[in-house]
Amino acid sequence: MALYSARREFNVGVRVGDINLNRGFHIIAGPCSVESIGQINAAAKVLAEHGVRILRGGAFKPRTSPYSFQGLAEDGLRLLSNAAKANGMLCVSEIMDAESIELAAPYVDVFQVGARNMQNFSLLKRLAKQGKPVLLKRGMAATIEEFLLAAEYVLQGNDDVILCERGVRSFEPLTRNMLDLAGVALLLRMSHLPVFVDLSHSTGRTDIVPELARACIAMGAHGVMVEAHPDPNNALCDGEQAMPLDVAARMIDELQPWIDLRAKLEANASVQAGSL
Ligand code: PEP
Ligand code: MN
Repeated sequence: MALYSARREFNVGVRVGDINLNRGFHIIAGPCSVESIGQINAAAKVLAEHGVRILRGGAFKPRTSPYSFQGLAEDGLRLLSNAAKANGMLCVSEIMDAESIELAAPYVDVFQVGARNMQNFSLLKRLAKQGKPVLLKRGMAATIEEFLLAAEYVLQGNDDVILCERGVRSFEPLTRNMLDLAGVALLLRMSHLPVFVDLSHSTGRTDIVPELARACIAMGAHGVMVEAHPDPNNALCDGEQAMPLDVAARMIDELQPWIDLRAKLEANASVQAGSL
């Protein structure tokens, strides 16, 4: 099977532009949805200044209610792409159907498949037939095996898949979903693909994101995704889980020593392995 760890030895890494996601620890950040030029530019500027290389922002929003903000569609993709380029970043955005691939391709560096579409097999099959990396979210009630098999659909024709745990449905009302760190540990063992953790959709809050980010660094995840917004109180989508930009910036700065420590420990471990 393409996905399992036997492949790891041959793994050259999933690349997004000049970034190899299988090396180091990466932060994907930005608002839930692109709302305006001012909003996305403000987010991109601050996040880029603090070292974020991949900007997120939804233009097609899968909302529970049809009366909620649905996203700016192509205008949103254009604003996202321009904000990313102006700040030396790459960008990721969700598409909900195969018909949107062609429309979104000129604007995005990575296609996101959302939790609600993890088993949209016609979408996955079409994404296998194009060349851009795909960030695949875990379905909200999907097992690890179902998640890996969904990734296999894309891997039939496209090596560049990024797995993203985003929490699963649970009985706990204090967090939006239940973050499955055991599942992340399993994904890291079972797959050669980069494993990211969406800390915003998994928790639905901002206060516990820094400690969970440290846990992700410690356990060897390849990165995290975090929602950040210049004005969360007036966000059109997911404001309660969006970090204000200054809070996100502070967290990113405070994570750096942990990221450096991991790099040092990994370098020591590989020197030791080499001398055995
Ligand atoms: C998102 O990242 O904007 C999103 C809708 O996430 P999920 O598909 O994980 O719910
Ligand atoms: Mn969101």
